[in-house]
Amino acid sequence: MSGKPVSRPDAPAGGKPREKAKQRPSGSNFIRAIIDADLASGKYAARTWGGHPGPARVHEGAPKDPARIRTRFPPEPNGYLHIGHAKSICLNFGLARDYGGVCHLRFDDTNPAKEEQEYVDSIIEAVRWLGFDWGEHLYYASDYFDTLYEFAELFIRHGLAYVDSLTAEEMRDYRGTLFRPGRESPYRERPADENLALFRRMRAGEFPDGTHVLRLKIDMTSGNINLRDPVIYRIRHAAHHRTGDTWCIYPLYDYTHCISDALENITHSICTLEFEDHRPLYDWVLERLADFGALKRPLPQQIEFARLNLTYVVLSKRKLIQLVEEGHVDGWDDPRMPTIAGCRRRGYTPEAIRLFAERIGVAKENSTLDISILEECLRDDLNERAERRIAVLDPLRLVIDNYPEGAEEECRAPNHPQKPELGRRIVPFSRELWIEREDFTESPPQGYFRLYPGNSVRLRYGYVVKCTGCEKDAQGNVIAVHCEYAPETKSGTPGADKVKVKGAIHWLSAKHACAAEVRLYDRLFRVPQPGSERDVLEDINPGSKKIITAQLEPALRDAKPEERLQFERHGYFIADRVDSKPGVPVFNRAVTLRDSWAGTA
Ligand code: ATP
Ligand code: MG
Repeated sequence: MSGKPVSRPDAPAGGKPREKAKQRPSGSNFIRAIIDADLASGKYAARTWGGHPGPARVHEGAPKDPARIRTRFPPEPNGYLHIGHAKSICLNFGLARDYGGVCHLRFDDTNPAKEEQEYVDSIIEAVRWLGFDWGEHLYYASDYFDTLYEFAELFIRHGLAYVDSLTAEEMRDYRGTLFRPGRESPYRERPADENLALFRRMRAGEFPDGTHVLRLKIDMTSGNINLRDPVIYRIRHAAHHRTGDTWCIYPLYDYTHCISDALENITHSICTLEFEDHRPLYDWVLERLADFGALKRPLPQQIEFARLNLTYVVLSKRKLIQLVEEGHVDGWDDPRMPTIAGCRRRGYTPEAIRLFAERIGVAKENSTLDISILEECLRDDLNERAERRIAVLDPLRLVIDNYPEGAEEECRAPNHPQKPELGRRIVPFSRELWIEREDFTESPPQGYFRLYPGNSVRLRYGYVVKCTGCEKDAQGNVIAVHCEYAPETKSGTPGADKVKVKGAIHWLSAKHACAAEVRLYDRLFRVPQPGSERDVLEDINPGSKKIITAQLEPALRDAKPEERLQFERHGYFIADRVDSKPGVPVFNRAVTLRDSWAGTA
């Protein structure tokens, strides 16, 4: 336990799924209104820090320009970041950018048991990839362990903190409930010098885990349980990923976070709604330290906003860790994971994620948004930017019987239908082609305009062909389709459109095409609220990953890792950054062209 709160059970979970968030100008959220008011009132202009008498403690390297706003993104390095964190990152870094301020990246690393360097590295990579820069302002809460300790002694000396020696169980009982006030611990009135001595012995490693804690002395009868003498230090004989064995007592989140904000001169400390009930404690700690002369006013202020919840994904770190550790997915960056690393491998662009953050805006009330809003942002971004290519995902051979054997020619296909400036490319044509299996049938349903015996279609960018029949294997499966082409119908030549046909299909020259592994990813969960009605693992969509061997345009053989393309009629794909090798690309489907889940929720 890191001592952080979990979501309140009464938080509304339903929201309005499927409703597309309106595009809001990014300037209109309530947090901006607070910042505007603070700037207008000159709240920070009065600060004279850096060179002048300033707060008693400012972390070395903390920004010295007082008039600017300062935000921070404070991840705990106990997992990979996910799309919910992306919302917070875009918000914090976006505000700093828009107001000419600074946003810090601070690792909130106070729990040695669950934190690892791998997570630190992945977080740094994810924030950078999203396009944000903290400059020199990379901090770790563990850098403040000395100061946090000194401040704890200050609280003790002022009679506002005491060493409690109740067992964890007794302490829970003494704390009371929402309906029952707490009771004061028998150790609450220990004299300051006794507390100080005990606290120093705790630090010196004289006591085993769980025997004593340091608590603030606030109010055991408060209606706000967070104010009932919160624990601020506990004994934990565990090595920390940065401080090693230097400490065997570690500060808790609520105590650490507000002080870290103050030490870094954060002006607006933006966090999710479940911390609302912790704000009085945040303010209490900082106000007392300012009273002691250890910090200078104006102090940072905490502002809460609604966390992001999305349908068809889980965003709880605990569940994400379970998916990875139990092997239900292929690691933290599995393209089906809602992690930033997973989104990246899936084919998301940083621009699409930032667009998403902007579209959904910032609210004061929790709700669950439909994942299709996120997917639509990717389509909107890639539709503009991704070049078009041809891929046949379920190949069936088409033989043009009246086309000369051994002959070949070039067809030209535009790289982007709306952007002639992106040019055209050559697609080779020959007697034997690959077409999609679904583009041929022997018995066409009504409205089927593709290949069936007697029908003509246009081979996109090529010729009009008329189907003459098909070949089957012993089991009756169609193994090749036959047709004849009309030489005067080549796309782009005069008179090519004289022959009118209703259908157009894509194709590739069989001898030129390149076979490649393509992964067709779909949503990881098959229900909008995974885990709400049964174990979350039972809600996994068994068809969320399908691996096929597709035929691709020859030029795709040299696709660069992370190159994103639209495969015509199929969706947007990305060359996998991990598994693609030179000349042997592997593609992941990022998203289909249309929302194939619409109406299923
Ligand atoms: P935990 O604290 O349980 O380990 P967490 O998801 O809160 O998990 P943190 O590393 O503490 O993870 O989060 C870093 C920041 O990201 C916090 O400021 C937190 O409020 C914010 N954040 C986390 N999840 C979301 C979300 N779903 N939507 C918006 N912001 C989020
Ligand atoms: Mg958290």
